Amino acid sequence: MTLDFEKETLIKELKKRKPKKVLVQLAEGIKQNAHEISEWIESLGIECIFSGESCWGACSVAIQEAQALGVDLIVHFGHAKFIDVDFPVLYIEVKDILDLSSILKKSIPHLKNYKKIGLSYSIQHRHDIQKIKDFYEKNGKQVTLSKKVGTNAYEGHITGCEYRGLKAIQEGVDCFVIIGNQFHAMGAALAVKKPVILLDVYNDEVRSMAGLREKILKQRLFSIEKFREAKNIGIIIEIKPGQKFGNPRKLLEKLRAAGKKAVVITMSEVTPDKIMNFYNVEAFVELACPRIALDDFAKYPKPILTMLEAMVAIGERSWNEIVENGIV
Ligand code: SF4
Repeated sequence: MTLDFEKETLIKELKKRKPKKVLVQLAEGIKQNAHEISEWIESLGIECIFSGESCWGACSVAIQEAQALGVDLIVHFGHAKFIDVDFPVLYIEVKDILDLSSILKKSIPHLKNYKKIGLSYSIQHRHDIQKIKDFYEKNGKQVTLSKKVGTNAYEGHITGCEYRGLKAIQEGVDCFVIIGNQFHAMGAALAVKKPVILLDVYNDEVRSMAGLREKILKQRLFSIEKFREAKNIGIIIEIKPGQKFGNPRKLLEKLRAAGKKAVVITMSEVTPDKIMNFYNVEAFVELACPRIALDDFAKYPKPILTMLEAMVAIGERSWNEIVENGIV
């Protein structure tokens, strides 16, 4: 795999915007490229500082760091624009240059029972999507890209917490094909009812997400049950601009009305250590990235629910209803 950091776009945009000092955010996985990027930026006479904070998604726009450092611009590598923020941000999406011909051929037997395919990709594969669509159409499939809805930047684009674009086309497709890695495909499998097939382009593997979906749903039910038994609840909020999945005040009132004691806790990032320090809190609900609760079950010794799951735990929603509509 080769990464294309879109150097020409970067240089062109920096020359146009003329910042004196920039804060660079690199997605996890590309932080090792800081030196070469620094050389490109500094060659233009621009001072450049790299954020060492984690950057899992485009929801993490480091506005507070940028303001504290007095930079004119944030350069955010590895994600597409997610939300509008009150600070200048240049997004450089970064392309994964891969030869997908082998994995595409490998996927055909997995799709033999499906004629109509819903297709989605994580941002690094956007440049390949027309070729992928053409390939499947030549192999007799009807292909529909997921809709551009909510925080998706393009038709077909998915992030780990925005699956409404897939839901919008699900009635017209037999299955979904996700180009990328397990993170996005697993989210899709929890969001839609139709089968989800992952083309794991990094491991050259084609996999159904059905088994993993069932495993996660069982874990979620277990966590909801534990949450029901808990008296002391912590509501976790993060300060990242794109991580506001619910109203903490309203949730606090609902939990108290349901007989729980609850407090609101802010964190810059949820980690097991921080959770453990609140040792009297028996269960948490997090309004930050929903994937923390869904993906990191094994990492946390206490149950952590999403907002939707908390509603199930206090009897405001039914489990069947949220599974039917997608738990993400
Ligand atoms: S909230 Fe979570 S899933 Fe959504 S973009 Fe941020 S890190 Fe990704």
